[in-house]
Amino acid sequence: MNKEKKSPEFRIGCHLSIANGYLSMAKTAVEIGANVFQFFTRNPRGGAAKPIDPDDIAAFLAYSQENDIGPILAHAPYTMNLCAAEERIRDFALNTMMDDLYRMEYTPGNMYNLHPGSHVQQGVEKGIELIADALNTAITNDQTTWVLLETMAGKGTEIGRTFEELKAIMDRIKIRDRLGVCLDTCHIFDAGYDIVNDLDGVLEHFDKIIGLDKLKAIHLNDTKNPFKSHKDRHETIGNGYLGIETLRKVINHPVLRHLPFYLETPNELPGYAREIALLKTERTGI
Ligand code: FE
Ligand code: FE
Ligand code: ZN
Repeated sequence: MNKEKKSPEFRIGCHLSIANGYLSMAKTAVEIGANVFQFFTRNPRGGAAKPIDPDDIAAFLAYSQENDIGPILAHAPYTMNLCAAEERIRDFALNTMMDDLYRMEYTPGNMYNLHPGSHVQQGVEKGIELIADALNTAITNDQTTWVLLETMAGKGTEIGRTFEELKAIMDRIKIRDRLGVCLDTCHIFDAGYDIVNDLDGVLEHFDKIIGLDKLKAIHLNDTKNPFKSHKDRHETIGNGYLGIETLRKVINHPVLRHLPFYLETPNELPGYAREIALLKTERTGI
C-alpha cells in the first residue's frame, strides 16, 4: 500500500468537561461525532486536580482504542504563569505543571498544551528565560507526553504572540524530542498573522521560524475581533472575522490536514456536534 497517496483521516473534536472522568469524555466525543478531545487538567482557575482513578483510566484506554479516539490534548489552567514576577506564583505554576505531566503519563503518548506565560512588566527577554527554566525543570527524558506551547493573541504582556518568541523559548529547552507547538487560529489572527488573506505565507513563515515538523495540534476557532486586535475572544465557526472560507482552507491545507483539530468555540455540546458535522462536510479528499 502506498501510504503517501492515502489522505489522512480527519481528526476533529472539541473541548470537553473532565467533571465525570476520562471514560465519560471519550463517550461524549463519540456521541457528538468527534474522534479527539481537549480537557482542562483541573479547574481552569487553578487549584487541586481530582485524584486519578485507575479504573476510569483503564476503561478509557480500552474504549478509546476500540472507538479510535485520540490523541487527547490536556490544557493547563489559564492562571498557570511560569514567568510571574513573584517567585511564589512561579513555584506554584511549576508544581502545577509537574503534577499535570505526572498525571498525563497515565494516558501515555498524548499532549499537554500551555500558555507560555505573561511577563507582567519584567520584559519579554526575562519572561522567556523564566519559562524556559521552568520547562527545563519539568520535562524529563522518559516522558511520553508532548508539551505544546500555544500561539497567543498578545493580550496584555502575554508571551508567544510571535513565532519568534516561541522559538526563543524552544531553543532554550534541553530535552526537545517531545516539545511542539499548538496553533490557535483565533489567536494568530488576533496577534497579526493574516490567515484570511495569506494562509500560505503565514505557514511558510511558521516553517522558517519554528519548523512545521514542530506543529502538533490546531485550536480551531473563529474570532469575535478584527485582525491584530490582541483581544482573544473566540467565536463560533463561520460567525467571526475568519469565516468558514478561511477555516475550510485550514482544515484542508496540505501541511495541516494530518493534524488533530480541537474546537474551543463558545458552545454547549449540541453546538459542538453541529460544528463538527459542518466541518466534516467541508473536508475535502476523503
Ligand atoms: Fe489556550
Ligand atoms: Fe486556544
Ligand atoms: Zn483563546
